[in-house]
Amino acid sequence: MIGTLYIVSAPSGAGKTSLVKALLERVEGISVSVSHTTRAPRPGERDGQDYHFIDRERFEALVAAGEFLEHAQVFGNFYGTARATLVEQLQAGEDVILEIDWQGARQVHAAFPEAVKVFILPPSREALYRRLRARGQDSEAVIARRMAEAVS
Ligand code: 5GP
Repeated sequence: MIGTLYIVSAPSGAGKTSLVKALLERVEGISVSVSHTTRAPRPGERDGQDYHFIDRERFEALVAAGEFLEHAQVFGNFYGTARATLVEQLQAGEDVILEIDWQGARQVHAAFPEAVKVFILPPSREALYRRLRARGQDSEAVIARRMAEAVS
């Protein structure tokens, strides 16, 4: 049995993480793929659960070894989805969600045309700005960059 692959993309602050969390609590047989990233962990994030936190050198070695189904640079950090784990989950009949950016979504779509693409939009630009500020995780400069990225 082969599971369904869902690609969920959204500007950060659109509520993607909360929506996916709510889905995981309600639906069985679906999981989120844990990406690799060179970004530093935020407070409360756990290695192996939120991300596999790795350094730039290790990331590049994985790219060179062809271990990633897709990878991209987002806001100055590198992110990638490991191919082997994902394929294993799908082959076991599990549905899998990829929470990735548009660059990754494009690459995955090329490899898995049958993947279901979901885009989540915030109610408005103002709402997005308020949420990014309320989250208290990012500096004004980072928020400005995320806002610019979200509307482009
Ligand atoms: P954050 O650093 O806020 O967790 O994520 C920043 C952005 O990177 C988000 O848009 C998120 O969807 C994206 N992202 C997270 N993991 C991956 C991945 O494995 N591949 C790609 N292409 N983007 C990712």
